[in-house]
Amino acid sequence: MYFYEMRIDIITLHPELLESPFSSSILKRASDKKLVKVFFHQLRDYSDDKHRRVDDTQFGGGAGMVLSVQPIAAVFDYLLGQRAYDEIIYMSPDARQFDQSIANKLSTYTNIIILCGHYKGIDHRIRDHYITRELSIGDFVLSGGELPAAMICDAIIRLLPGVLGDETSALTDSFQDGILAAPVYTRPAEWRGLHVPEVLLSGHFKNIEDWRQEQAFQRTTILRPDLLRDNGED
Ligand code: SAH
Repeated sequence: MYFYEMRIDIITLHPELLESPFSSSILKRASDKKLVKVFFHQLRDYSDDKHRRVDDTQFGGGAGMVLSVQPIAAVFDYLLGQRAYDEIIYMSPDARQFDQSIANKLSTYTNIIILCGHYKGIDHRIRDHYITRELSIGDFVLSGGELPAAMICDAIIRLLPGVLGDETSALTDSFQDGILAAPVYTRPAEWRGLHVPEVLLSGHFKNIEDWRQEQAFQRTTILRPDLLRDNGED
């Protein structure tokens, strides 16, 4: 029995959609290092129905099926009976948009549940009764919550201490200081007549830092002036 720094339980009808993001690169490294453990729960396994149905038609009529209360409540009650959760998240296009400040906050938690919706969404009583935070990944509608869940898990997990090596420190990424990152370059110093900014070759730490800050600020002013108005608070 290992102790994991963070546990994430994802409830889904399509665990196969989630397998690949969690079994390569940095997310894999994080679980190999026992910094996070992610469990997938097939919602159908919690259905009372003999055909393992999890959805039904909408009250009031209208196109599209709705995920029923019963299986979702069953998986939530099971998990909540095992341990305390810091947050029970529902991925939903009508929710507040996920951003770096929310990722920072969630990365400090120990146990998180993420519910992926499907079809028309879930019976609203689940949202009222169990869900503590709803998150959207943008103003567009996908067919399921799996890709959004994988996205927010990636953003959270890469922040956990020990996941990224020094060479990819999350602290210098865009949004961490409320601004975009400075441009980056690598060898060769000249390519097809295009030169890397001289200051980066100078070895002068203070000048390099000043240049990076100036560039970050300029890029933010031009590309994302809204960030400079936003105080970045969650
Ligand atoms: N009828 C709903 C959309 C359902 S889309 C509406 O109009 O708001 C089906 C599922 O995909 C949702 O339950 C949600 O879990 C997921 N989903 C779709 N788009 C999403 C987005 N932009 N952000 C987060 N989750 C999303």
